[in-house]
Amino acid sequence: MCGIFGVYGHQEAAALTQLGLYSLQHRGQESAGIVAVDDDGRARVSRAMGLVSEGFEDAEMDVLQGPIAIGHTRYSTAGASAIENAQPILARVRRSHIALAHNGNLTNAVELRRDLEDDGAIFSSTMDSEAIVHRIARATGDSPEARVASALQGVEGAYCLLVVLDETVVVARDPHGWRPLVMGRLGESYVFASETCALDIVGATVEREILPGEIVAVDAQGVRSIQPLAAAPINRCVFEHVYFARPDSKVFGGSVDRSRRALGRKLAIEQPAPGAEVVFAVPDSSNSAALGFAEESGIPYELALIRNHYVGRTFIQPTQAGRDAKVKVKYNPVRELLEGKSVVMVDDSIVRGTTTRGLVSLVRAAGAREVHMRVSSAPIISSCYYGIDTPHRGELIAAQMSHAELVRHLGVDSLGYLSIDGMLSAMPSGPDGYCHACFSGRYPTPIPADPELLRAGSAA
Ligand code: SF4
Repeated sequence: MCGIFGVYGHQEAAALTQLGLYSLQHRGQESAGIVAVDDDGRARVSRAMGLVSEGFEDAEMDVLQGPIAIGHTRYSTAGASAIENAQPILARVRRSHIALAHNGNLTNAVELRRDLEDDGAIFSSTMDSEAIVHRIARATGDSPEARVASALQGVEGAYCLLVVLDETVVVARDPHGWRPLVMGRLGESYVFASETCALDIVGATVEREILPGEIVAVDAQGVRSIQPLAAAPINRCVFEHVYFARPDSKVFGGSVDRSRRALGRKLAIEQPAPGAEVVFAVPDSSNSAALGFAEESGIPYELALIRNHYVGRTFIQPTQAGRDAKVKVKYNPVRELLEGKSVVMVDDSIVRGTTTRGLVSLVRAAGAREVHMRVSSAPIISSCYYGIDTPHRGELIAAQMSHAELVRHLGVDSLGYLSIDGMLSAMPSGPDGYCHACFSGRYPTPIPADPELLRAGSAA
């Protein structure tokens, strides 16, 4: 799961890309990078572990000159958290260059890599994305977009790509449309981003979504769009609206804030909490859903849990040790709002349950009389192979325990999840065309033959 951002045709392309990456920081905090191409066609890259704010020194930004740039914020879904796996990838091939930023996860990465290695390819990272670079390097075509189209034949799974081939930016989205990608305009320049909030920060206007299966090229000859990939059922990721995207973004054509409020309202209808006196969110991703729950139920909304914003997202820390330590430093309850009360705690999802259990204990210690847990999505029971780093099924608490066991384990007085139908009916374009495999176990495509090998990214 990652954020990608790109600019074509602006002399401050790298600086704009850095700004865009700030807005996409929530999509990945392990590493960040920018590739810029100057007026003479020279490509330069800067990548670093950590946050965007930590990654780019002024001196480095000064070097990233030119009218073309692409950038990436990463957390690992395939390949370890290490600098050699930071993106964008920049490869030099036959006196030209290929730069690539990828959001998503390829489901046949192991096979793609094995075929390339059998054919003599040498890999410098463990990322699934590197296989695409090799395939582009070997592909032929009478235009940059035709080369990318040829390279993507046989590539399966989720991808939104920003590619720079010499002085052309090529943008691609897989035919299922799992991940979001939008195109915007900034004067005469073109801007591409995972979410619209990244267009807002640079003052770009949203032009349109890149369509599932579409490849767009932009260069000195203008903008060209082709749809060379076989059409497939649309499977937009419902979890983007539930948890991942920012509420100030429009994703898949709809406001994330609106869909989260609708999720909260439906949750209040399906799983009411009679007698409760206060509703509060597990901030920040659940704020809108908790507001929706409060609006529908009439129970007052309070800011009863305060989040320390200087600690990263628990969910996307790659090790258990990092996650455990962060629960307590990340949240603190407001005792005055909780003491002696029956309260509703709204969260968008429960993954391992570690955070939820810790929070319930904090809220009880602050004096809450009853804690009613309400979740604005269905129970997560299966892993994701399309770009969200949900853990192995064995670590998913809802897959391991019955409802009664969960209530006891989490230490709540009651626990209510939204149904899958309720969740899908809150999506901006209606319930159809969404992937819900992690909630239903119904995968819309074949899953990898060896998921653990894919996760490790070893693909060797
Ligand atoms: Fe999104 Fe879940 Fe589907 Fe993955 S499995 S794409 S997280 S809905």
